[in-house]
Amino acid sequence: MRFWTRWLSTLLGAGLTAILLLGMAGAGRAQAQTPSTYTVQPGDTLGVIATRFGVDLAALAAANALADVNLIEVGQVLIIPGGESGLPFAAARPGDSLADVAARLGITAEAAAALNQMEATARLFPGQPVRIPPDAPGDSNLRFGAVTNVLLPAQIVQGRTGRLAVEGRYPLSLSATFNGLPLGFLPAGESRQSAFLPTPALLGPGIFPVEIGYATGSGVVISRTFSVLVSSGGYDSQLIELPDGKGGLLDPEFTQPEIEKLYALWSVIDPPLRWSEPFSRPISLEYPTTSPYGIRRSYNGGPYASYHSGQDFGAPAGVTVTAPGDGIVVLAESLNVRGNTVLLDHGAGVFTGYWHLSEILVTSGQAVVVGDPLGLVGTTGLSTGNHLHWEMRIYGVSVDPMQFLEEGIGEWGVGSGE
Ligand SMILES: [Zn+2]
Repeated sequence: MRFWTRWLSTLLGAGLTAILLLGMAGAGRAQAQTPSTYTVQPGDTLGVIATRFGVDLAALAAANALADVNLIEVGQVLIIPGGESGLPFAAARPGDSLADVAARLGITAEAAAALNQMEATARLFPGQPVRIPPDAPGDSNLRFGAVTNVLLPAQIVQGRTGRLAVEGRYPLSLSATFNGLPLGFLPAGESRQSAFLPTPALLGPGIFPVEIGYATGSGVVISRTFSVLVSSGGYDSQLIELPDGKGGLLDPEFTQPEIEKLYALWSVIDPPLRWSEPFSRPISLEYPTTSPYGIRRSYNGGPYASYHSGQDFGAPAGVTVTAPGDGIVVLAESLNVRGNTVLLDHGAGVFTGYWHLSEILVTSGQAVVVGDPLGLVGTTGLSTGNHLHWEMRIYGVSVDPMQFLEEGIGEWGVGSGE
């Protein structure tokens, strides 16, 4: 009898969910047919699940941050890569029910139940992705110790840069890491500090930790770990065959010294932030993108272990390249791979780079303002034709610079003064 009742209520629940989803489809929010999550059933192996959904086993393991493909449990909810519903996710915390997550995000338990096709009372495992409406207010009320609020995006798309803001009862000596990457905090108001969350194009998809801590007067560090879902950027893949003669150009002996030189420069976090408006395009609009940021690359049939770290614009030799925002030139010289190179420090760990120039028009140490000429388009270094490669590094991580043509720093809650 009890079983029957439960079965009936499940049926009713499913019916209600179907009606709600139909209603949403009518409102233009239809979900893709591929489910984006899957609950592990008795007898399942990761290989069986990968086959069922037609996804690569390694990609499935990576999407769920599984170090060992044999370690999955019945009831565990897996993210199915490529099965995106187009809706953002929030990550459950230890002890959460679906209703708890909904309450924290300011959405109704009913809406959360319908979107996730489960009961509002369902218990979730820590980090379990929960689908939320695109207009959910966000997980905005997180506190621990003297930290009164943590503002963290529920998800970041691969290659994009998220924002973290932390508020304290008093000015805190904060530190934080994103998947182990140390972040740099900037003052963003009286009691608020802000940092970037730069996400590499090859990270995840999956759930990654943001650890936030502060040192107390006695030197003890109080910290807490939060979760961010990194979702797919949908980047294409590209096979690059280097001609016999040019393969040698990828030898570490040839490429390594300049990478080390650049890393030493762009890993510096030197406040204040010297730019606040959205970036202006570093090259005239008439020159289109020829190769976007993030495209995965395999050289001569090797693994897809690297990605295009910048945005390429096709332009003839001699076209002027300009500063997208205020900054200081920290490198202006000829390098083996990148050719004639200019690197700008925009402050607070944010750098932009300009490769393959035919001519450099600035010198190291020079301050530039938005619109100042930096150099001329060329094809110096490891390049097959005239183009500008525009790169952006935050705390040393290459991210999509195009995001910053739309978003100014004011919208990030980072102090714009100074
Ligand atoms: Zn490039």
